[in-house]
Amino acid sequence: MKKVIIRKTEEIENWRNNISSDINFIPTMGNLHNGHIKLISTAKDDNSNVNLVSIFVNPLQFDNKSDLENYPQTIDNDIKISFANGADAIFIPSTEDIYPPNNKNIKFIKASLELSSALCGLNRIGHFDGVCTVIYRLLNLIKPKNLYLGEKDWQQLLILRNLILTKKLNVAIKSIPTQRDFDGIPLSSRNVNLSKNERELIRVFSNELLLAKKIFQQEKKVNLKEIIKKLSAKKISIEYLEHLHPYTLQQSSVEDNISILAGAIRCGETRLIDHIFLMRRRPIIAIDGPAGSGKSTVTKLIAKKLKLLYLDTGAMYRALSWLLKKENIDYQKEKKLQNILKGISIMFKSNGNANQDVFINNYCVTNEIRSQEISSIVSKISSIKEVRKFLVEEQRKIGESGGLVAEGRDIGTTVFPDAELKVFLTASIDERAKRRKSDKKSEDSQKMDLNKLKELIKRRDFEDSNREISPLKKANDAIEIITDKYSIDEVVDKIIDLYNERIPKETEIK
Ligand code: C5P
Repeated sequence: MKKVIIRKTEEIENWRNNISSDINFIPTMGNLHNGHIKLISTAKDDNSNVNLVSIFVNPLQFDNKSDLENYPQTIDNDIKISFANGADAIFIPSTEDIYPPNNKNIKFIKASLELSSALCGLNRIGHFDGVCTVIYRLLNLIKPKNLYLGEKDWQQLLILRNLILTKKLNVAIKSIPTQRDFDGIPLSSRNVNLSKNERELIRVFSNELLLAKKIFQQEKKVNLKEIIKKLSAKKISIEYLEHLHPYTLQQSSVEDNISILAGAIRCGETRLIDHIFLMRRRPIIAIDGPAGSGKSTVTKLIAKKLKLLYLDTGAMYRALSWLLKKENIDYQKEKKLQNILKGISIMFKSNGNANQDVFINNYCVTNEIRSQEISSIVSKISSIKEVRKFLVEEQRKIGESGGLVAEGRDIGTTVFPDAELKVFLTASIDERAKRRKSDKKSEDSQKMDLNKLKELIKRRDFEDSNREISPLKKANDAIEIITDKYSIDEVVDKIIDLYNERIPKETEIK
């Protein structure tokens, strides 16, 4: 594809009409550094869309005239960098082009009041309104599928996500973690204006935040006063330093698994921001739904793609059912059952085929637990109070430090009610029966008549949904996906997009 530079807004539509793929849009204010390069190259590697980089120093987002005048401009070099790293087109409009005088069609946008009242919004009056106005204008002109933004400007990212939501724009935000220089300070176009001494101040500040993260990992708390005291002793002028909920930007509470420690400092004329995310445990995804909704296939793929542990809780109920059946145990007898449960151990081991083997008391039961015989008794056994108590505890132990995607019936409601992402997967009875019939794991299901299979699934749905303890039901905050019309990959992509929206990429960095 021929690489192009577009300078007029009118040319954008023409250009768009001549391309056949979707657009990845990477907005910048120029003076490109490795952070921008990471955005452009991530967009290039993500998909086969066309990548458009814009370079526009937006006067509306400067609350200070001298900051605007001093903003570094290096357009020739920016063009070279953009094309060398994956841009197919560069849009370099003039101010008059983006804001034509007397054009009544230009919409001036107000940023979300809640989000822009915190952090930088307190001192940079109108800044986020300016950001929203220019991005809204650019999104309407360019009509991209994906918008690439850096997590370095986390508040801006939240405000733009809110803009996209409230204006019902069909754009997905893709984010990249803050890129840091050799000395730990976040890359920023404004860094070129720093003197050696000022750079040292921001280095001390950024490293203090990184230290706070290390301390948090051990002590699970942040001592804001202590950090402020330390920074002040080093003559660092703090504009703010706050410990907040990462999405609402309200004060963080002990219940927040992820929180943000964000600050701004003044270095001479320059104001610099930095933040770190704090996490009590790694993220958890809960996937619930009825038999045949595609849970296992989807959950396994998500675990692989996101490098999370895969926990099949259904296999635990099945394994236990297998053992009770094999040992001829009357599971209705409460006392006896409690004693037996004490001596049970269930384990998963990777079998090298991207699959797991299930062991109960050292018996490998991977295949046996998929038989129709087990499917027909598992719902009964899993409705027993002692069984649920025992297995829920086991599941919580496995998920103690997070980093897993668990599938089942009660993961979002009971096992991990604080999971970062809860999905309720379902599909019509016809579709689920068809899927079970072609399930290679279960020879019994393959041999069975489709109508018979439908009956059995309906019965299991009924038993699972109507039991007294932790019945199968969608958690209030779960997202329901009806999978009939989607391919497996589409469902996986949807869930991964939701995950990426909720979990900052930076949390993946040790
Ligand atoms: O998902 P799978 O079909 O393997 O689950 C087998 C059975 O185990 C379900 O029908 C349900 O009765 C039980 N189960 C449960 N709670 C879970 C997972 C499975 O009750 N979290």
